[in-house]
Amino acid sequence: MKKSILDSKDMESFVVLGATGSIGVNALKVISAFGKKVEALSAGSNIELLNEQISLYSPSLVCIANSWDLKRLEPKGAKVFIGEEGLLEMLSLAKSLKVINAIAGFAGLHASLKTLELQKDLILSNKESLVVAGSRFDVSKIIPIDSEHFGLWYILEGLKAKGETNVTRLIITASGGALRDKSAKEVLDSKLKSVLAHPNWKMGARITIDSATMVNKLYEVLETYWLFKDLNKNLKIDSLIERSSSIHSLVELEDSSLLAHLANPDMRLPLSFGIGGKEAFKESIINKLDLKDLVKIDFREIDTKLYPLWKYKDLLLEKPSLGAVLNASNEVALEAFLSENLSLKVIVDIVSKTLEAFKDTKINDSLEDILALHKEARSVALKQLHDLI
Ligand code: NDP
Repeated sequence: MKKSILDSKDMESFVVLGATGSIGVNALKVISAFGKKVEALSAGSNIELLNEQISLYSPSLVCIANSWDLKRLEPKGAKVFIGEEGLLEMLSLAKSLKVINAIAGFAGLHASLKTLELQKDLILSNKESLVVAGSRFDVSKIIPIDSEHFGLWYILEGLKAKGETNVTRLIITASGGALRDKSAKEVLDSKLKSVLAHPNWKMGARITIDSATMVNKLYEVLETYWLFKDLNKNLKIDSLIERSSSIHSLVELEDSSLLAHLANPDMRLPLSFGIGGKEAFKESIINKLDLKDLVKIDFREIDTKLYPLWKYKDLLLEKPSLGAVLNASNEVALEAFLSENLSLKVIVDIVSKTLEAFKDTKINDSLEDILALHKEARSVALKQLHDLI
């Protein structure tokens, strides 16, 4: 039987990319709770927090995004790398066999590819890697730690162990984001402050905005496709709103049984599995879900009046390579939304117009073509932005 990548105990140290973000900070807490070591850390521009992490975890390798931040960095003897090139070099030098990629956005793609090229295990939080270039990854070397995919993986591992392969449908849940109780007009008029007030999860700004537009769920549908498409060539992938974020995912079998993964909304659960393996759960650090809270559980369809971009779900599943266009246009729109006090409608308009512009384009799966598509989609999205504001 093929050895699970979670069974490997050979290496106790980790590379944590995006260490200063919401996932990165939690990953470091879990690594520390399990008594493992940190060999390498990367950050963008939050040098103050990185300096604290260097003091606490004593990494021997450190990477920052920009050279102008060097004067603020206190590496305490660690070898320092800069920018994307530096990040890839740091990965090559690291001895650790496990890399947690928690960088936000397209900026995490090359690090994910490099990790697998170096035959290290990829504990993947950077969902954009799969959204943009899913065809370029050997997913058997990926431990998914997005809560929905971790839930699916958890159920599917159990089914696999029993030799059950009759999976017909995978369902991931959505909370509905910060604007779920607003009218369609209020949603589209919303500005940054109200969009960032997520009801269930404490996450980085970009993914919180993506939850309000439902782009996050489009990303996760694509992530599900790339991770699990080989289960069944007629596999269906759906998403439903479950407001409490207690049920993360469901697996439907041929006989119509549904198996669900339930847990508190706490990213330390998937992180614990990725970092500590199955052994980690002899002493769980996660608060258990109180089942008495589940009386209010219900499931709802995702309403395209509140989440207009959800209408692209089927197109994206028919043509998953359009994920590169979805991500590029969303990143352009997010950058503008975060800096220009725009309304959410701008994101919806830019993403939908860019997807419409590329929906009939023939897309090849080579990395070169994917990168060219990303660049082209960004420039179309920038033009849309220019026309809109
Ligand atoms: P954050 O915005 O909180 O953190 C992002 C991290 O990436 C920070 O360390 C940031 O550095 C770093 N970073 C950003 N841009 C660059 C860049 N250009 N070059 C190098 N480093 C960069 O994000 P989250 O932790 O919320 O999310 C990280 C990833 O995990 C995303 O892909 C997200 O979709 C995914 N995810 C997050 C979940 C969550 O609960 N937060 C759940 C599931 C998936 P700095 O802050 O120093 O500038």
